[in-house]
Amino acid sequence: MNKSGAKEPKDDSQVKKEGPVQSVKGMRDLLSDEFFSLEGFFEKASEIALYYGFQPIQTPLIEREEAFLRTVGEYTDIVQKETYTFRTKGGDRLILRPEGTAGVMRAYIEHGMHTLPQPVMLFYYGPFFRHENPQRGRQRQFQQFGIEVLGIDKSVADAITIRVLLTILEEAGLKDIIVEINSLGDKECRSQYKKALYAYFKRHIGKLSANEKELLKNNPLRLLDSKNPDIIPLKEKAPEAMDYLTGASKEHFKEVLEYLDTLKIPFRINSNLVRGLDYYSQTVFEFVLEKEEETEKGKESVRIELGGGGRYDYLAKMLGAKKDIPSVGGALGVSRIISLGYGTHLKPRILKKPRVFFIQLGFEAKLQSLGVIEILRKAKLPVRQSLSKDGLSVQLGIAERLKISWVLILGQKEVLEESIIVRNMEDRSQQTVKIADLADYIKKVIAK
Ligand code: AMP
Repeated sequence: MNKSGAKEPKDDSQVKKEGPVQSVKGMRDLLSDEFFSLEGFFEKASEIALYYGFQPIQTPLIEREEAFLRTVGEYTDIVQKETYTFRTKGGDRLILRPEGTAGVMRAYIEHGMHTLPQPVMLFYYGPFFRHENPQRGRQRQFQQFGIEVLGIDKSVADAITIRVLLTILEEAGLKDIIVEINSLGDKECRSQYKKALYAYFKRHIGKLSANEKELLKNNPLRLLDSKNPDIIPLKEKAPEAMDYLTGASKEHFKEVLEYLDTLKIPFRINSNLVRGLDYYSQTVFEFVLEKEEETEKGKESVRIELGGGGRYDYLAKMLGAKKDIPSVGGALGVSRIISLGYGTHLKPRILKKPRVFFIQLGFEAKLQSLGVIEILRKAKLPVRQSLSKDGLSVQLGIAERLKISWVLILGQKEVLEESIIVRNMEDRSQQTVKIADLADYIKKVIAK
């Protein structure tokens, strides 16, 4: 058991030791369809981000541990329970990145990006690692797509971040996404708010679990993330961050909401939304899908988080920068989105519908076939080939089922004659073409 009373996930060392080697718990192989969906999603999301002026960045999967300890915060689930940390033989303490923002900010500082025209707008995607209890929509290695707008304190940057991530979700086929939003204010507001939360929950301390009492001392904001049924009614009556916003913070949040109104983005203010991590300030937001699901208690509305983000004006100093670098960003949980069945229509550009089905019959033909494939590739003609032992009629049947209009047939006789049969499946006509003339024939007849 861990501190929160939850059953600790089984360690991989406890997983079956007999039989063939298996993948690590909570980490999955991506096979063809899912792989293409993921690639297609990333390609579409990158296209949208580039369109809005974001540039790509790829930070390493491994960072120094302090990049996250100092910033995500010691008293967060991520750092307390979920990070994969290790010590190298040289004695460095490293971590598999649990999220993207701290690494991007580390890169901004390291590369002196403050000397570039501000803001610096970056997008990234790839795997992230959290040692969570694997369950539906939650894995230990999962994929995110994120954007960051660094070096700007203006509310328009918050609005762009939400707009771009929402556009990506819409392109992935998601409808009725709820944008939940809240503001934690600046350092001053946040600290007043924390005090108010502390005083409030202190009055109800009897209802808190041991772990929650610990949180109350160290990070009372996180109590608002709690799923403990005893404190859900308490959360509803808890002080709201918005009541602690002063001056510029109030104005900033008002402007963000005005932008959303102008952009016709419906939003819902959720005063319990704090996104636990220490580096957030001002605006925080989440994209939520509410689904009716059959549960043990009957039909229930289930809240599914598809992504989120917020402002992190003080993160740079936490990472050792001399000055604050006001910034905002957010990330989408792409693995979760795809596992829910969205975005599967976003095929990557490399995946082409085959225009030709190539049948090779016999060993000699297989030897020659790679030369023919190269001719087709240079002519930019997507091909589906079969290395099977099936006979001609079975393979023609496959081509027909796949609705491919042209079939190339290379048999023993054709190999000897250095030719190939080109069959039009629509009118069932066929011609024998010299392999030397194939490129020309493709241009004039097939690809015309
Ligand atoms: P977060 O940085 O925790 O706000 O994560 C952003 C999004 O990533 C979430 O809204 C989820 O959709 C997704 N996500 C977070 N943790 C996991 C996980 N362990 N497995 C799969 N998806 C996750």
